[in-house]
Amino acid sequence: MSEQVEESLDELRLSLAGTVINPADAEYDAARRCFNALIDRRPAVIARCVVPGDVATALDFARTHDLEVAVRGGGHSPAGHCVCDDGLVIDLSAMRGVHVDNDQGLARADGGATWFDYDSATQLHRLVTPGGVVRSTGVCGLALGGGIGHLTAQHGLTCDNLVGAELVAPDGSVIVATPDENTELLWGLRGGGGNFGVATSLTFRLFPLDRVVGGLLEYRGSVVRDALRRFRDVVAQSPHDLSCQAMLALDESLAPTLAVAPCYTGSDSDPAELRALRSAPGLMSDGVRPQSFLDQQLVFDSPYGENRHYWKGHFVRELPDELIDELLRRIVAFGRPPVHVSIESLHGAAKDADAGLSGIAYRGAAFNVSAMAVWREPNLDEQHIAWARDTAAAIEPWSYSGGGYFNYMQADEPIERVRAAFGDDAFERLQALKKRYDPNNVLRRNQNVPPT
Ligand SMILES: Cc1cc2nc3c(=O)[nH]c(=O)nc-3n(C[C@H](O)[C@H](O)[C@H](O)COP(=O)(O)OP(=O)(O)OC[C@H]3O[C@@H](n4cnc5c(N)ncnc54)[C@H](O)[C@@H]3O)c2cc1C
Repeated sequence: MSEQVEESLDELRLSLAGTVINPADAEYDAARRCFNALIDRRPAVIARCVVPGDVATALDFARTHDLEVAVRGGGHSPAGHCVCDDGLVIDLSAMRGVHVDNDQGLARADGGATWFDYDSATQLHRLVTPGGVVRSTGVCGLALGGGIGHLTAQHGLTCDNLVGAELVAPDGSVIVATPDENTELLWGLRGGGGNFGVATSLTFRLFPLDRVVGGLLEYRGSVVRDALRRFRDVVAQSPHDLSCQAMLALDESLAPTLAVAPCYTGSDSDPAELRALRSAPGLMSDGVRPQSFLDQQLVFDSPYGENRHYWKGHFVRELPDELIDELLRRIVAFGRPPVHVSIESLHGAAKDADAGLSGIAYRGAAFNVSAMAVWREPNLDEQHIAWARDTAAAIEPWSYSGGGYFNYMQADEPIERVRAAFGDDAFERLQALKKRYDPNNVLRRNQNVPPT
C-alpha cells in the first residue's frame, strides 16, 4: 500500500459508518477470502459499508487515491471479481437487510443480502422470488447476472422479477431505477451485471409459495445415460410447475453419477413428470418428498473458501444423445472426482418472458451446460482448468449463441463471449448505459461491458 493511502486511512475510518480493514488487521484474511479458493488477492483496503453513504465515501476514496475498485456481495463470483490486488474492496457483507412489503407483493434486499437472508424473510410470509440454489450466494450479484434456480420454470430468471434498484454510481450520485424512472437502466440491470453502479438495494416481485415437492434423485453407473435422457425428455414437455436441474459427476469408485433436483409446485399429488423420473431404471436413491422451500434450498450446498473452482460452459439448443455421450465420456475419462457437469433446464417461464424485459440472448436455449472443475490441491490447477476448458469446447458445437452464462464466467472469458450473451444490439445498448453511468469504467472488475 502506498504511504499516501496508508496516511489517509484514519480519515476514511472517521468518515465511514462501517469499518475499514487493512492488511495489518486481524480480520483481513477472512475479509479478503472468496468462495473460490483459487483466488488469492490482497487488496490495500476493504471498506465494510453499512449504509449507502459509505459506498459513496469509499468510491470517493478510491478515486482520490487512484485505486482499483472491487465490489463484494456474497463473495461467490467464480472469477473472484469481489476482490482485487492493491485496490479497494467495497464490502457489502454487513448490509444484509431484507424488507418484505406484503401488500405490494415486493421485497427489497440490501446490497449484501444472501439468499438465506432473503428466503428466510420472505418465507415467513409464505412468499418467494426465484433465486439461486446455494443459500450463501449474494442476492444482488446473482440477480444482476441473470439467476437460474429451483423456481426458474415457474417464475423465470431472478432478474425477470427485478422491479426496482437503488444504486450508487461511480461518481457518488444515488440513482433510483423503477418501471417509471430510469427504465433503460432497469432494463440493463436485468442481466448486465455490476457494470453501472453499486446496488445498495434491489426490489423484486414476490409469489405465493407454501411447500414444494423436491429433493434429489440419484443414479449411478451404466444407468446414468438413460436417466439423463429421461431428464431431458421430461423437461422437454415444458411443465411450468416443475423446475429441474441435473448434475453429472464421478464417485470415489470412478463410476459416473447423476443427481436430478426437481422442484414441483403444482397441486397434483403424484405428477406424471416426477413419476417418470422416479421410475427410471437404476434409481439408487430417492430423496424427493414434500418439504418447505427453505429445505429445498439445502439440496445443494458447498463449503465457502475451501475448494478451488474453474467453470466454463455454453447454453445449448438441445441435448441430443450424442452430446450426452460426449459429456459422460469426458467425466469418466478425467478419472478424478469431484468434477461436475451442471445441466440447468431453461424451460417454462424463463423462455416465455417478454423479450423486451432484458438484453439476455439465451432465452431460446434448452439448457445451460457447464463444466465445473472443483479440487483442493494447488498442484492440480492446470489439469482441472484444462479439463473444464476442453469439456466446454466439446459442448460448443451445440452452443445456442456462443455466449456464456454471466454468473458462471471466469475472468479469462473474452469480450466476444460477454457480447454474445446479449447479441450485438443489446450489447450496444448496455455500452450506452455504461458510458452514461460509468464512463471511466471504474467498475471493471466484473464481466465487463466497456463504455466503448
Ligand atoms: C456455490 C455457488 C453456487 C451458485 N449458484 C448459482 C445459482 O444457483 N444460480 C445462478 O444463477 N448463479 C449461481 N452462482 C453464480 C453467482 O450467481 C454469481 O457468481 C454471482 O455473481 C455471485 O454473487 P455474489 O454477490 O455472491 O458474489 P460476489 O463475488 O460478492 O460478487 C460478484 C460480482 O457481482 C457484482 N455485485 C455483487 N453485489 C453487487 C451489488 N450489490 N452491486 C453491484 N454489483 C454487485 C460485482 O460485480 C461483483 O464483483 C453460484 C455461484 C457459486 C460459487
